[in-house]
Amino acid sequence: MFKRKRLIIAVVFVSVLIFSFINFIQPKYVIPIAMYHSINPNVQKDNRLAITPQAFARQMRFLKEHNYNVITLEKAADIIKNKKKAPANTIVLTFDDGYKDNYTYVFPILKKYGFPATLFIIIDEVGRPEGDMVSWDDIYAMQASGLVTVGSHTFRHPYLIDLTSREDIRREIQDSKKVLEVKLGRKVDVFCYPAGRFNKEIRQIVIDSGYKIAVATNPGKEIPDDDVFALKRLRISQNCANLFIFWIETSGYYNLIRENRKK
Ligand SMILES: [Zn+2]
Repeated sequence: MFKRKRLIIAVVFVSVLIFSFINFIQPKYVIPIAMYHSINPNVQKDNRLAITPQAFARQMRFLKEHNYNVITLEKAADIIKNKKKAPANTIVLTFDDGYKDNYTYVFPILKKYGFPATLFIIIDEVGRPEGDMVSWDDIYAMQASGLVTVGSHTFRHPYLIDLTSREDIRREIQDSKKVLEVKLGRKVDVFCYPAGRFNKEIRQIVIDSGYKIAVATNPGKEIPDDDVFALKRLRISQNCANLFIFWIETSGYYNLIRENRKK
């Protein structure tokens, strides 16, 4: 009897401790924005930008089975900007560069589960003769499904911070929007910095060009989590084939862990 009492006291004590600790560090929930690139059956071990179709399919099934709230980037940006409360298990799916395999492996799964996603395409790469990038027809088909939103990832994918001419930067950001709008027959509101690289001037050009949202990768603590012109994203690489790692990374608290781990 005495032992049981002691156990209860210990449990209460530990619970209070954990609660106080969580309260003390105040972890901020940030809607996870997953960043995928190629979904490729022949992923090399050191390739951090590709995962296998099997791993991707498992992750999407995991989201479905655990009732994740998969929303569009636009909806997430609205929640973030206006400081609304996001429903539990909210997640956004984004795909960079416009690989053909996104059409082959990703699109059927998005349709199967009704998940929305954003595809950031490099305009000059579309329909590349080698056949490893999406074609305009692929893009049209994905757009017509109502599930895929297409955003600009510039014409040529240069590191914008390395461009010396302001005119070149403006062209990659603003003209790519215009060209894409004509090609797609709809407004293009979302932009993706190549390699996630940007600075204050580049960010301002994105705003002045009329975009509503821009995504980065991991710009660090200095950039606030609610900057809709530099949204942080989680790189999903092959180590996330492990659903436990995937679950942690997409928990909404991973940015906090990541940003406090380094430096
Ligand atoms: Zn890219």
